[in-house]
Amino acid sequence: MKIAILSRNKTLYSTRRLVEAAEQRGHRVQVVDVLRCYMNITSHRPTIHYRGETLSDFDAVIPRIGASVTFYGTAVVRQFEMMNVFSLNESVAITRSRDKLRSLQLLARKGIGLPVTGFAHNPDDIDDLINTVGGTPLVIKLLEGTQGIGVVLAETKKAAESVIQAFMGLKANIMVQEFIKEAGGSDLRCFVVGGRVVATMKRQGPEGEFRSNLHRGGSATLVRLTPEERSTAVRAAKIMGLNVCGVDLLRSNHGPVVMEVNSSPGLEGIEKASGKNVADLIVQYIEKRLEELGDSKGRSRTRGRG
Ligand code: ADP
Repeated sequence: MKIAILSRNKTLYSTRRLVEAAEQRGHRVQVVDVLRCYMNITSHRPTIHYRGETLSDFDAVIPRIGASVTFYGTAVVRQFEMMNVFSLNESVAITRSRDKLRSLQLLARKGIGLPVTGFAHNPDDIDDLINTVGGTPLVIKLLEGTQGIGVVLAETKKAAESVIQAFMGLKANIMVQEFIKEAGGSDLRCFVVGGRVVATMKRQGPEGEFRSNLHRGGSATLVRLTPEERSTAVRAAKIMGLNVCGVDLLRSNHGPVVMEVNSSPGLEGIEKASGKNVADLIVQYIEKRLEELGDSKGRSRTRGRG
């Protein structure tokens, strides 16, 4: 197979591991910086140009699109789809997953456990917004935040009001969420490939920190999922229409709740904590899907909904 990895940086752990795994399995790989691609949109012979050459003959593309380049990155993935190239995650599914509200609404509609969540842009009645999620303590999140930045724990109503007012002053979209105290500053990352959880890790924030992000100094350890956690992760991936994703769960008193579904989950933490060769499993999955799909137009069919 000839595989394109859409990544802005060849030296990133995840990119390197995917290149390595694909080459080890006898495939040809090219790392392509999406922002340097340019395209001609036509129904006859859509193409993608890159550094003066046409990108052609690819069988599959692995999108590793950072949050900041979602708009252009998904356009490039769409162009590959127009060229009937199989994309590990489809452009529509990536776009869907990047919108936190849309994701939570879709998951809620299908009965997936979630922390009680409210969202607002410019609420007239902050008191009422706070009450909709059961009062304080609560978590306030900037919709555009990643890696735990813009996630605030407000212990008292006064604190909640001032943080909400501050975010409103910045004209930001915010989410207000029930605080899952019993998670104890930890969450579960479930790495899903092709409808199966292939690796898991438990991330624990440092002492006194409720956020478990590894970027915020959290540490990762091996964990065993309960059958309910496993099926929640698999169902969340399916609802989002993502073949490969990281589903983040919190262990709450009312069962597993989904925090987020990440369409470009990093490999470093999960491979190290779980000891699994996740990159190889991803490449194996692509091989299997391509064998099933053959050359049919169904290679780039759209799945999922909303
Ligand atoms: P980001 O997408 O920026 O990583 P998250 O929404 O995943 O933001 O939140 C970062 C971390 O904060 C989570 O991994 C989790 O450990 C903690 N956290 C977030 N929301 C809650 C909540 N409602 N209850 C308890 N902990 C939470």
